[in-house]
Amino acid sequence: MTESIAVLGATGSVGMQALEVAAHLGIRVDAIAAKRTIKLLEMQIRAHSPRFCAVIDEDAARRLREAVSDTNTLVLGGADAILEMIQLTDADTVLNAVSGISGLRPTMAAIAANKKLALANKESLVAFGETVMAEAARRGVEIAPVDSEHSAIEQCLRGNRHEDIRRLILTASGGPFFNLGKKELDSITPREALAHPTWTMGKRITIDSATMMNKGFEVIEAHHLFGISPEKIDVLVHRESIVHSMVEYNDSAVIAQMSVPDMKLCIQYALTNPGRYTSPVNRLNLASVCTLSFFEPDKKTFPLLPLAYDSIKRGGVVPAAMNAADEAAVELFLIGKIGFGDISSAVCEATARCADIKSPTLEQVEAADAEAREYVYGLVR
Ligand code: NDP
Ligand code: MG
Repeated sequence: MTESIAVLGATGSVGMQALEVAAHLGIRVDAIAAKRTIKLLEMQIRAHSPRFCAVIDEDAARRLREAVSDTNTLVLGGADAILEMIQLTDADTVLNAVSGISGLRPTMAAIAANKKLALANKESLVAFGETVMAEAARRGVEIAPVDSEHSAIEQCLRGNRHEDIRRLILTASGGPFFNLGKKELDSITPREALAHPTWTMGKRITIDSATMMNKGFEVIEAHHLFGISPEKIDVLVHRESIVHSMVEYNDSAVIAQMSVPDMKLCIQYALTNPGRYTSPVNRLNLASVCTLSFFEPDKKTFPLLPLAYDSIKRGGVVPAAMNAADEAAVELFLIGKIGFGDISSAVCEATARCADIKSPTLEQVEAADAEAREYVYGLVR
């Protein structure tokens, strides 16, 4: 079990819950990091007394350094502050809950420092999955998934043989617009898209859940984490978010993992597996849930899901470009520059234009990311 932890993205939805779980389990918090939300970081420093705190925004770092000058926390500031902090911390586990592609370099740094990696930042695997997994294997570094579907699959795989897997079944809540057609989607506002029916999450992943881009990312994540080809990974819409994912074996047995939807369970399992301890999570009462429903996803109305399958087939820098285009398109949607339906078309166009580069370096991935992002911003200029 994890004894000490560095929480990256500590001020976000997953990061805050990770600090709660750490406190519950008595895990020492040695380091925390965020981009610029220093009011919350100050509270976290006072509550958890970490030795290090990294803040990407230099000015915010300076202000935080002054505000916590009465504590023993060393505040690091600037673009490379998280990478420096990973070098300095003696935490045995890095929990990466940074949002977006900015989480990729910290993922690589944590692996290079031989830390166990509890990984919520799905963009690391979407954009650079092959290398991330290969580096972790080469160094014997454990990657424990935090994403609920992958945590569920990890649990369903325990005690079974890899060669006996017939397929993975990722469940998807279907988001708030599950029953709407293409036309109705065009008039969706950011406020409507941010109202997820079952999970409370950061803004980007909430919009990605509504477009099903998130599920596409998760197919790619599962492909890399579990070494399963995309044809053997299915998606099933499950409105209640009780079954978090399933594995079907060659004998037709299907093993599912269930709980009330609460990220604290996934975070805790990533830190304690294979051990299981009492958690802050409510118990599941199936009699009060009554019905569990499942549907095939509507791939015509939500084209970003099939696009993700296609991007794995193309491989190279294509998934990274798709992710970058989506990050940019979601940002533009949230500030009212494009409509909800435009997100899918922008991402499809930017991905189609992406050049095929096999076995890319980190720099090539970042260049493809920048190009796709620029293309999407260019659409509204
Ligand atoms: P949030 O938007 O709630 O939080 C993002 C965190 O990352 C904040 O602490 C933010 O700091 C920090 N951050 C943002 N940009 C940077 C940067 N450039 N450098 C360093 N830190 C940065 O996101 P979520 O918690 O929802 O998601 C985090 C990750 O986990 C994502 O990859 C998401 O896909 C994944 N995930 C999330 C789930 C959820 O339930 N929320 C479920 C499964 C996966 P600041 O506050 O200062 O801006
Ligand atoms: Mg998920």
